[in-house]
Amino acid sequence: MAYEKVWANNPNLNKTELKKLEKDGLKIFEDIPRYAKEGFASIPQEEWDLFKWAGLYLQKPKEAGYFMMRVCVPSGILNNEQLETLAGIARDYGRGVFDITTRQAVQFHWLQIEQLPDIFDRLKRVGLSTAGACGDITRNIVGNPLAGIDPNEIIDTTGIVREVYEFFQYNEDFSNLPRKYKMSISANVYNAANAEIHCISFTPAKKVIDGKETLGFHVKVGGGLSSAPYLAQTLDVFVKPEQVKDVAIAVTTIFRDYGYREKRHRSRLKFLVADWGIEKFKEKLLELTGPLPSKGEDIQKGWNAGYFYGVHRQKQEGLNYIGFNVPVGRLSADEVFEIARVARQYGNGEVRLCNSQNLIIPNVPDENVDALLHEKVFERITIQPKSFIGYSVSCTGTEYCNLAIVETKERMRRIAEYLDDHLELDVPVRIHMVGCPNSCGQRQIADIGLQGIKMKTKDKGMVEAFEIYVGGTLQNGGKFNEKLKGKVDAEQLSKVLVKLLTYFKETKQQGETFLDY
Ligand code: SF4
Repeated sequence: MAYEKVWANNPNLNKTELKKLEKDGLKIFEDIPRYAKEGFASIPQEEWDLFKWAGLYLQKPKEAGYFMMRVCVPSGILNNEQLETLAGIARDYGRGVFDITTRQAVQFHWLQIEQLPDIFDRLKRVGLSTAGACGDITRNIVGNPLAGIDPNEIIDTTGIVREVYEFFQYNEDFSNLPRKYKMSISANVYNAANAEIHCISFTPAKKVIDGKETLGFHVKVGGGLSSAPYLAQTLDVFVKPEQVKDVAIAVTTIFRDYGYREKRHRSRLKFLVADWGIEKFKEKLLELTGPLPSKGEDIQKGWNAGYFYGVHRQKQEGLNYIGFNVPVGRLSADEVFEIARVARQYGNGEVRLCNSQNLIIPNVPDENVDALLHEKVFERITIQPKSFIGYSVSCTGTEYCNLAIVETKERMRRIAEYLDDHLELDVPVRIHMVGCPNSCGQRQIADIGLQGIKMKTKDKGMVEAFEIYVGGTLQNGGKFNEKLKGKVDAEQLSKVLVKLLTYFKETKQQGETFLDY
C-alpha cells in the first residue's frame, strides 16, 4: 500500500526503481546468513547493490568480495559498550581501520561475507545497526554531538533523534525512497549539524504561542551536495518538539510519493523542492500534518562547522566535555580501545563523534581533566592540533571507494602535515578533499575544497589531479565555494596550496578569516 503512488506518479520508472519494487532493499538482511554460509561466489551480481540497505558497499575491485560497512550512530553518540564493540569489529575483521564519517557514522573496511552474521550479532547486542547507513532510505540522522550536555542548545534533542531514527530504521513503508535521504535534528545555536546541506533539517527556534514563549524548531528542506549542490530552504512553519516525528514522516512521505524516479541523478529531494518551490511544498506538507503555526524566531548565532577542540564546561555543573582532533577521521582499533578505556576511567564512558570527523569525550569531572589529558593516546589525538591537520576533512577515495577517481585520505593527511611544516596562520583554514563529485567529504562548504579528477599531461599521460574551490561556508545561510581556473597535478598540490595560503597570509588583516577575506 505504501508505494501505490510510486507507480501513479512515475509511469517511467528507471531500471533501479523496477528492481527496488521487486525486492525491498531491507530484505537483504534475510539473505545474508545464507550467503555467509555459501560464500561470496553464491551472491548473484544483480543482488550486490541491495547490500547497501545493510550498510555495505563492495570495495574496489568488487570481484574480490571485500565490503566496506557503515554503522549508524544517531547524533554521533556512543556509550562505552558500543565503542568497544566497534573497536572489536575493526580489530577482528576490519584490519584495524576505524573511520569517522562526515555524517557521524563509523566505517569499516575489508569485511567478508562469512564474517557478517557475527558482526551483525555484535552490533545488535549493543543496540547498533547498519540499516539505513547506505541505500535509498533515511540515512544516519545527524545531530548535535553535545545533545543533553550542551550549554548552547535550547532543547535536549537526544530523545527526539532516537525516536525519529527508530521509526525509520527498519520501516519498509519508507525503505524504498527515490534516492538517499539525509536528515539532521539539532537545537545547538551554532548549527552543529550543518542544517543547510540536508534533505530535511530541524533547527532551533522560538515562538510565542497562546501568549507563552515556546521553544521548538524551524524546518529546512531541499539541501544537498554532489554535482548539483543546493542549500536547504526554510518552510514557513514552527514545529514543537513533540511534533518533530510527525513532520519528518510527512516530509519523507512527500519524497517517497512525489520524488522523481525516472533519472537517478534527478531523484534527490532537492530537485523536487526546487521545481515545486517552497510554498507548494508547505501546502503539501500541511495536507499531511494538519495546520502548523507559521515561523517564529530563528535562534542561530553562527556556525561552528562541527569543531569542539579543547576543554569546555557542560550544562551540568562540575562536568566538562573535551574535543579532540582525529587526523582525517581515521583511528586504529587499538586507539579506539584506548579511548574507550580512558572515557570509562575519567568520564562516564561515552564518546561522541562529530561531522568534522573528530571526537568528544563528555562528562569528565573537573578533577579528572588533567589526568585524562596526560594519557599517551592523546599525543596524536590532541585537543590542540596544528592549524591544517586540525581542520582537514577527507572522504574515502580510491583506497576503498568504487566511485573514486583519485586517492584522498592519506593524501589529505600528507598535504595537511606539509602545510603545517611550511606555514603558520593565525586563523584556521578548513580544507576538504573529495575523490569524485559525490562530495562525501562535503567539498562545497570548505574554505578550500579539493576535488579529484583525471588530467592528461604531455609527459606522464593521465595523472591524478585536483580542481581547487574557494570560499565555502554555512555562515549566514551558507554559500558554496567557487572553482578557481585550471587544475593542479596531484604531485604539485602541496606546493600550490602553500603559494595560495602564503598570499592569503601576506595580504590579510590580523585575525581575518578565509571567509572574511
Ligand atoms: Fe567515494 Fe566520491 Fe564519496 Fe569520495 S566523494 S567517498 S570518492 S563516492
